[in-house]
Parts: sequence; structure tokens; C-alpha cells
Amino acid sequence: MTYRSPVPYHVERMHAAAVYCSDGRVGEHFDDFLKHGLKLPRYDRVALPGGPGCLAGHTEARLEQEGVIGELKFLTDAHRIDRVILIQHEGCAFYGHRLGVDDARMSTLQRADLVRAAFQIRRVSSDINVEAYFASRDDSGMLFEQVQVD
Ligand SMILES: [Zn+2]
Repeated sequence: MTYRSPVPYHVERMHAAAVYCSDGRVGEHFDDFLKHGLKLPRYDRVALPGGPGCLAGHTEARLEQEGVIGELKFLTDAHRIDRVILIQHEGCAFYGHRLGVDDARMSTLQRADLVRAAFQIRRVSSDINVEAYFASRDDSGMLFEQVQVD
């Protein structure tokens, strides 16, 4: 099978990366937010279950944390990224299943983890600007709200 994508290819890089959960139900929302909300059409993607939750020092995700830090070091060197966007999403299965967090305290922990993740990323390079968002469902789509991480 062969498929030709009609999407134009651009050589220029955005020098920005987003770290978010790989949950397929929210992928298009994240892409829409980054492309249109933040005007970053060709941002680098670091997607894995839990997203920034894997950078918050949880022992259950120790190996993932090492992996993501390694990826961000690579992107800093090879793609010269200087901006990282972290996104958490409502009802993330990484928190419910992997960490055993109940719904009542999930979003509080996710927001606190954004601060912890931002700290870890700044240890990779102090030149990286980190910003963070929390995505929640609303009637017809998803709402992205900025979370202070400095
Ligand atoms: Zn998730």
C-alpha cells in the first residue's frame, strides 16, 4: 500500500516541543491548540502515556522520566528547542490506573506535577522557557487553561 500525503513539507523548525499524553482521544485537540492557539504548526512532539506526569518524580515512572529527559536533551542539541509546552488532560488514565489516583484529587496532583515537570526541564537547560496548560472537556470540545509554573 502506498499513500501520498498532500500536506506541504516545510524545512524550517519551530524550536518548540510539546510534552503531552499519547491518549488518542485528545491528540487532535492538542494539535489544534498548539497549531492555532499557540501558533506552533510544526512543533516537536514528545507523546507518551501521562505526558508531563512522567517528569514529576513518580517512582512508577522512573524509566519514562529518564527517557523523556534524554529526548529533551536531544531536541535541545539537534533541533535547538528553547520552548517546551506541557499539557495535562482531565481524566488521564496514567493517573487513574498507573498511579491509582482517584478522580477527586487527580487534577490537583496533575497541576502540581506541571510545576515539578517544569523544574526538571529547566535542569536540562536554563535557556528553555517552559509553559503549562490543563485541558478539560467542555460541551463541544476541550478547554485549555494556562497553569503558572514559575
Ligand atoms: Zn492521559
